[in-house]
Amino acid sequence: MFLSELKLMIEMKYDIEANWTLLKTCNFRCAYCFSRPDALGAMLNIYATPEQWAESFNATSKIWLLHITGGEPTIYPGFVEMCEQLTQDHFVSLNSNLSHQCVNEFAEKIDPARVHYINAAVHYFERQKKALLNVFINRVQRLQSQQFNVLVSLVMTPAIIKIYSEISQYFESFGISLIPKTLRDNYQGMRYPEAYSENEKTLIVQYLREARLKYISIITRMGEPPTIDMFNDERFLNSNLNYHGRLCGSGYNFIKLKPDGSVFRCGSKESLGNILQKNVSFLSNSALCNSSYCPYFCEKYTSQHFTKV
Ligand code: SF4
Ligand code: SF4
Repeated sequence: MFLSELKLMIEMKYDIEANWTLLKTCNFRCAYCFSRPDALGAMLNIYATPEQWAESFNATSKIWLLHITGGEPTIYPGFVEMCEQLTQDHFVSLNSNLSHQCVNEFAEKIDPARVHYINAAVHYFERQKKALLNVFINRVQRLQSQQFNVLVSLVMTPAIIKIYSEISQYFESFGISLIPKTLRDNYQGMRYPEAYSENEKTLIVQYLREARLKYISIITRMGEPPTIDMFNDERFLNSNLNYHGRLCGSGYNFIKLKPDGSVFRCGSKESLGNILQKNVSFLSNSALCNSSYCPYFCEKYTSQHFTKV
């Protein structure tokens, strides 16, 4: 292995992960979004300064992996400054549509060794409406040039599956590979992934296999699989995603964090306190699942799994 490659390896040592909904507001209106349009258009609330957030995480005496999501996190005022503060002591990963210009500042100022990955979601039809595809591509390239692990994902609606090869070729002409992301939940009156046809499932599995091969060097240097492990989405295509009764680290080494700092054991109503009020009581160990939640977190915290290549 070359010395330059060694420098890119991310070695994360963290005590606990948070799925942090920083805000619910978003500047896009994707038809498959989990959030309703009124929530996406709601006024953005700021509950703490970047310093207060960092100080609150530090006060737990834990090293955090903060998976920052939304809404769209990059539209949060002072987002880059907050990431600068947080990455002094902790690690972050992001879900983003890369639509805000602060992404360029993020690429310049944030240490890529402290960012496990950026799930950069294309949202193809929204971008076409806004004529923003090339802006997105430029931002991905800028992040890549600064050695961030950028996972460029495309949600596989039936309409997208039909033109995936074409879109993929377009992105490949810019040196960018796509990762197909399976639909979950309700979309256009159907429940997914159950509503995919056998042919659609076959295509998704094939595109996933191609994505794993194209991303092998990034997967390797990430050290551990991304929590939002889209590379293995085929495991969700035919399973019922019920984790009830399984031993899970949620509440112990993983928590759900809301915009106001309140902490929950994933999808349950079990409140563990508030990070900004510095009164969180984490569970003392793993406990049986009594809820339902985003399956990427369920998979990670009920089992160890490794990305297949
Ligand atoms: S960019 Fe993400 S949060 Fe925003 S509307 Fe689309 S899916 Fe929802
Ligand atoms: S819903 Fe998922 S994250 Fe929560 S306890 Fe169950 S398996 Fe764990």
